[in-house]
Amino acid sequence: MRTVAVTKIGSLRDPDESTRGRIGVVEMPEQPLGPEDVRIRVAYSAICGSDPHLAEGFFGTDVPIGLGHELSGVVEAVGDGVRTGIEVGDRIAGNFLRFCGSCGPCRDGRQQFCEFIQDYNRPGMAETVTWHESQVYRLPDSVSLRHGALLEPTSVAVRIADKTRLRVGDRVAICGGGPIGQLALQVMRLHGATSLTLIEPIADRREMALAAGAEHVIDPLTEDQEARAAEITGGRGYDVVIDASGSPRAVRGLLDLAAKGGTVVYGAMYPHDFEMPLNLSDFLYLKELTLTGVFVSPYAFPRAVQLLPLLDLDALTGTDFPLDQAVEAFAAHVSGRHPKVLIRCNDIADDGPAA
Ligand SMILES: [Zn+2]
Ligand SMILES: [Zn+2]
Repeated sequence: MRTVAVTKIGSLRDPDESTRGRIGVVEMPEQPLGPEDVRIRVAYSAICGSDPHLAEGFFGTDVPIGLGHELSGVVEAVGDGVRTGIEVGDRIAGNFLRFCGSCGPCRDGRQQFCEFIQDYNRPGMAETVTWHESQVYRLPDSVSLRHGALLEPTSVAVRIADKTRLRVGDRVAICGGGPIGQLALQVMRLHGATSLTLIEPIADRREMALAAGAEHVIDPLTEDQEARAAEITGGRGYDVVIDASGSPRAVRGLLDLAAKGGTVVYGAMYPHDFEMPLNLSDFLYLKELTLTGVFVSPYAFPRAVQLLPLLDLDALTGTDFPLDQAVEAFAAHVSGRHPKVLIRCNDIADDGPAA
């Protein structure tokens, strides 16, 4: 079974080819179909901003490392013991993580820290993937397979929204206009955010945000973001500030944008060794800020499925490459010229609302 994988550890952006990380299409064995498993013929698998971090060895350095955790597809086999009603032919998307339900964290309502979280972590940028039925969600009829591939990043946006504990009418700023920032923006808009602002240096991404309902955009490279934020919020600051950039340079100034009593959600992956100075007196004592983060998206998928038909996903799903051009697809991703890049793992006819 052909699978897209990291075949050499290193930065995909390294200008020196001898040390640069490498992506390839490798042959991997098809996973066995257990009694509660579902085998999926993958339609689309999206490249995630975290994939280049995997190439750098963030979660391990034994290659090949199979990639792909944002996917849609069609069920081609189900185990004898499947009880959720998923059937062959269903159009689905899902959660790449299986939570065991039995360990301490799972029993305690914190499945994101499941002690067996890696057991079913199987790469989905492949011809097929076999997941436990608890990982699989049927797509609404009005959602295409192309859009359905964004269920997982949408679940991250839902999880970010959960962690903001937003009150309807709160002022919200989002830093970073990549896919998670754009999805978080749409979710926060549906959630009743006001003064909704995207902070992003790339003009196309600011335009995309305005088209999707942002009220304001700030270019942090040419504008004084603190002054603009003060202007937009009447000097009060944002009740909710979300980082979706993962950029050490970008996150430094975000605490200054938050209103007293506000919440700041760090909703990205950060370099292992990055440490941000934090003035406890200013931000936690005087301003009573709540700082929090997002690891994965527990309990968010059912609501993400509900949201998919309400989101504008065309701009994020406009670029795709076939599986055998995965190397070109990653080059396109790294170039930063596309809002998001999908890999077409199989040519599956349905690409529009289900007939
Ligand atoms: Zn992702
Ligand atoms: Zn568990």
